[in-house]
Amino acid sequence: MTTCYMCSNEATSHEHVPPKCFFPELKDLPTGVNYRKDLITVPSCDSHNSEKSKDDEYLRMIIVSHYENNLAAQHHFSKKIMRSITKRPSLLGIIKDPRPAIVEGKSTGAFTVDRARFDKAMDCIARALYYNDNKKKWAEPITIQTPALFPIKRGDYKEIYRNIQHIMLMAEKIFETSPRLGSNQEIFYYQIYCDEQSRRLLVKMVFYEGYIVVAYSSPTINWPQGN
Ligand SMILES: [Zn+2]
Repeated sequence: MTTCYMCSNEATSHEHVPPKCFFPELKDLPTGVNYRKDLITVPSCDSHNSEKSKDDEYLRMIIVSHYENNLAAQHHFSKKIMRSITKRPSLLGIIKDPRPAIVEGKSTGAFTVDRARFDKAMDCIARALYYNDNKKKWAEPITIQTPALFPIKRGDYKEIYRNIQHIMLMAEKIFETSPRLGSNQEIFYYQIYCDEQSRRLLVKMVFYEGYIVVAYSSPTINWPQGN
């Protein structure tokens, strides 16, 4: 019996990693451009198939609305997401307290992110990538970190920001010479480091060339905690 990449239940389908909805459809792209080449899939049970929940759409909404993302993301945001919203107006409810903001001197928008939901979905993507590369499950807890989500409401944000920068620098150093994996790198690529003996894992995930998320596990090193 093939089991799910996340749990011991029987796998009933294949889950795309990252979710398929992250990759623009052909009809939304100029002729000849295909961002759905050789998508990664892992065996999944019903409850861990994100296409059956709304978590993947939530995640995509957060990522493609980020100010640094590339043209494919902007294109995606305007067409595909507007279509989703038209079909299911309740999706609009996932953006909490939208408000104007200034980031690095540029006007943009800010909204409140359900961090637990974001981290859970990213945890699944990191575990699925590990599964894809190693054909087995990663059993340790994972912490999710990203410089894109900034806790402006918290008083200790400077400390948190330093921790995020520390993790990002560490990832940059570790992955300096590692290949970027993934067949549609304008949409997504990843780099992965794992040392099974010391139960350490580091996965760097880059969405739309601008949205960086790092997932890590380490029981032995006092790495900074997530925010
Ligand atoms: Zn499962």
